[in-house]
Amino acid sequence: MSKDLASDTRWEGFLDANQPRYLAELVELLRIPSVSAAGVHVGDVRRAAEWVSHRATKAGIENVAIFPTGEHCCVYGDWLHAPGKPTILIYAHFDVQPPDPLELWTSPPFEPVVKDGCIFARGAADMKANLLLALIAAETLLATRGSLPVNVKFLFEGQEEIGSRDLGPFVSAQRERLACDMILTSDGIQWAVDQPAMWMAVKGACAFQVDLETAAMDLHSGLFGGAVPNAVHALVELLSTLRNREGRILVDGFFDEVAPLSGEARREINAIPFDAEEYKEEIVVDALVGEPGYSTYERAWARPTLEVNGIWGGYQGDGVKTVIPAKAHAKITCRLVANQDPEAVVDRLEAHIMRHRPAGARVAVVRPALSARPYQIPSNHPGVKVVAEVLTELYNRAPYFARVGGSLPITDMFLQELKAYTFMIGFGQSDERAHSPNEFFRLADFERGQAFYVRLLDRLSQVPEGSLGLRKTR
Ligand SMILES: [Zn+2]
Repeated sequence: MSKDLASDTRWEGFLDANQPRYLAELVELLRIPSVSAAGVHVGDVRRAAEWVSHRATKAGIENVAIFPTGEHCCVYGDWLHAPGKPTILIYAHFDVQPPDPLELWTSPPFEPVVKDGCIFARGAADMKANLLLALIAAETLLATRGSLPVNVKFLFEGQEEIGSRDLGPFVSAQRERLACDMILTSDGIQWAVDQPAMWMAVKGACAFQVDLETAAMDLHSGLFGGAVPNAVHALVELLSTLRNREGRILVDGFFDEVAPLSGEARREINAIPFDAEEYKEEIVVDALVGEPGYSTYERAWARPTLEVNGIWGGYQGDGVKTVIPAKAHAKITCRLVANQDPEAVVDRLEAHIMRHRPAGARVAVVRPALSARPYQIPSNHPGVKVVAEVLTELYNRAPYFARVGGSLPITDMFLQELKAYTFMIGFGQSDERAHSPNEFFRLADFERGQAFYVRLLDRLSQVPEGSLGLRKTR
């Protein structure tokens, strides 16, 4: 099929000829203020769903339907006439962040403006331009060859910007409909305009809070000082047992499940140019610290971390108060890597805290709701090679194999529910002000992303059915 695609270049002509229409469609979609966070925009989110479902139908996608998910909705559609070929699920979201503060926009957020090769509007980068890429690719292949090289399913969501809280239950209930071999999401960025990236892993997360008490009330430091425990000192002592001075986490059992970083993964990460001075300057820090034996990117992307996020207790008002605080608190979060389990990590933290509590300190651990499992694409997944090849063709440069220090829970959710790995291949850039005023998207990336999805769908048709996903082999 790919030989066909190389020799049959009608798809390129079709894309070229239709760019003005695609831009006009993007403008139309960007005009809909589909802000999922605001109750007043529920109807606009619905309007965006209807727009997307019409657009999918126009592209030649079948079985297009809108499903309610909580107060918003999602759109499903498919094209399933490639027997013996893999089934690819393509995810995107059509909701956007609130545009506030409005006064910082140089043009109104829902009146798109094209300037200097970029389109400015709320949702331009995150992710309405990206949403259209695979739909346009499918339309192009259907229009020029009458069929798609693989089976394709689309899932468009209307509440990503408020945490996708109803997506998991929907996917779980629709497992059969959504069954697939591999998932693509175009919600994301490339490394730079001239440098592609593959995002091979995202970190998990967990949280806990320590509430420490040493007396029923704050005590007079002249009457009791030196004779009774001080809650703030006790908390500082306790927290200092969590990490050593070099930054190594000391919690018993914390690393038990951590997948060791292979030599190949380390080579990939450290092949990405890193300028320590530039990095420090950008965020105005004086020194880079962290776990000994690992580079900055390895620490940030591929090793688990533990950070105290907040600490409070004692007197913080004006002047002086000679008192021995009775209570002190700390909020702590960890970022986790494969194969750590957030619940098990919090269990170990709690056991550690209880074991190390200073004399006279009563300690309670609170477990906030934050819990996300880490996600990692196996380096031998056949999709890795295919995606890397197509990116290399488009950029004339091999992608960086990078990772994400943050969490993206839908990746693990799809893996658990659909037994398929998600590849994050969006064409935004980190400077495009997603979530901020004057958000924009580069039109050159809009075109490049369309060609990427045409080539990728074609190339995936050469991967043997059943080798991409876990569902058929289990
Ligand atoms: Zn977003």
